[in-house]
Amino acid sequence: MTDGKSTFSRRSMLTGLSAGAGLAGLSAISSAKAANLPTPEIVESFDVVVIGTGLAGTAAALEAASSGARVAVLDKASENRAGGNSALSAGIIAMPASASSADSAAYLEDFVSKGQGRGNRAIYELMAQNTRADVEWLRTNGAEFTAQGTMPPYRIATVTTAPGPYMGMPRTLAGLRNRIEELGGHFFFDTKAKHLVLNENGAVAGVRAIGSDGVIELAGQSVVVTTGGYAANPQIIAAYSDPNAEALMVRGIDWATGDGLRMAGDVGAGLRGMGGIMALHIAAVDAVETAAGNPFAALPYCISVNQEGKRFVDESRGYVAHGKAVLGQPGQRASLVFDQTIAELPATQTTMATFRRLGIDIIEASTLDELAKELGVPSDTLAATIADFNVAVSGGAAPEASPPKAALARKIERAPFYAFHPLAPGVTLTFGGLMINDNAEVLEADGRVIAGLYAAGEGAGHVFYDDYVGGGSLANCLVMGRIAGREAALAG
Ligand SMILES: Cc1cc2nc3c(=O)[nH]c(=O)nc-3n(C[C@H](O)[C@H](O)[C@H](O)COP(=O)(O)OP(=O)(O)OC[C@H]3O[C@@H](n4cnc5c(N)ncnc54)[C@H](O)[C@@H]3O)c2cc1C
Repeated sequence: MTDGKSTFSRRSMLTGLSAGAGLAGLSAISSAKAANLPTPEIVESFDVVVIGTGLAGTAAALEAASSGARVAVLDKASENRAGGNSALSAGIIAMPASASSADSAAYLEDFVSKGQGRGNRAIYELMAQNTRADVEWLRTNGAEFTAQGTMPPYRIATVTTAPGPYMGMPRTLAGLRNRIEELGGHFFFDTKAKHLVLNENGAVAGVRAIGSDGVIELAGQSVVVTTGGYAANPQIIAAYSDPNAEALMVRGIDWATGDGLRMAGDVGAGLRGMGGIMALHIAAVDAVETAAGNPFAALPYCISVNQEGKRFVDESRGYVAHGKAVLGQPGQRASLVFDQTIAELPATQTTMATFRRLGIDIIEASTLDELAKELGVPSDTLAATIADFNVAVSGGAAPEASPPKAALARKIERAPFYAFHPLAPGVTLTFGGLMINDNAEVLEADGRVIAGLYAAGEGAGHVFYDDYVGGGSLANCLVMGRIAGREAALAG
């Protein structure tokens, strides 16, 4: 590490042996003949260069700067659009319910089972160990959270950035950026990282980027890739997950194009967890307010019906299982139906308050017949669906319903009746990404460490498989971002 001042230096130690080798066969991600940008005259030198200002990048930069490293953070977005999908998110972080080993174990089990045993257990273990402490660390750096909550049926606790869901992240991230600047960190906005730079030993030692003044190079003794996922890159999704990628709505930022996967891939990084619909988080949401118009809190208590007025999924399996099930329904549309008793539950109240704040209509009807007309579904079918479901509800579940509902089942019987309608599926986040180890070092496909290169967040660690526990992605970004920042600073 060098002293605390920002220095400009002529390019000396870096040889510019950058991208180009690529990952044969992964043409959707790696530009096999990536053109190198010309060598700029001026190279600005830092200890750690972080690419991306989402939660993973912010946590990495703050951790590295707190340990005395000179840190640069670049983002292709402008400052008023900083923060990536993290800024757009609900701000919910999943953590163990207490510091006890029993609650840590329950948290780990919930994550492992949600991913059918095929998520990244090593990262879940790090999340179980560190998330509570890392949330406190954010607090000591000025972040504010709502009171600890729960997310049934999981045995996890949640905190949400204040003042509440979908409201707190831009302010939280801006406060953390101020803190990084107080510690001497530098931000470069409107600056798109194009490729990594290797030194004479083959270690990653900088980033070449295009900013408003042209090509720049930020030299760093280590580089942290926190560029997020690839939900807005239909080329990658079509190649790995779904040939109909162009037809899928994108819920988040439309510049989440997997740049870090390509850049790191060009210097040999391995990828995992990219294949199939299992690599996508899909939620059925309002088609206009695609980000916050997500009735996830109310969903497990409601019944979901398709355009034929029929149930088609166990709603208690959560909003990802629901979103993927809607993909297979006629017209890819669904309606969440509930009654006045369900409307009075705190979880439903939260969703209704969010929808009203956003100006999204909530259908309300005094009879089921009227509700069916509002939804455009056959009245007799909806009535039969609800009657059959009500008969099957017993002890908070509906095991004999078709399809069965394992938990949180409530009868739909007390007027008025409501619906969140219509809901359509959109990609929230992507699960595949760069291979990393416990120290957030980026790995080649054969497990070798790429010296000088670290990665964290949505695009690293192939953390989730098929589904995730809500709040899990920000927990991963926080925990692994902080580890990446610590290790990158130590390497300097
Ligand atoms: C609507 C919505 C709600 C969500 N709510 C939650 C929630 O409540 N809890 C939860 O756990 N998860 C939630 N998620 C998922 C979660 O928000 C993301 O997985 C997480 O924020 C990703 O963080 P990140 O730091 O990895 O990437 P991001 O936050 O996406 O940040 C990546 C940054 O890298 C920048 N970048 C990309 N390429 C380049 C480049 N070439 N050069 C320079 N900069 C680049 C981008 O501009 C961006 O600023 C939600 C997602 C969405 C879309």
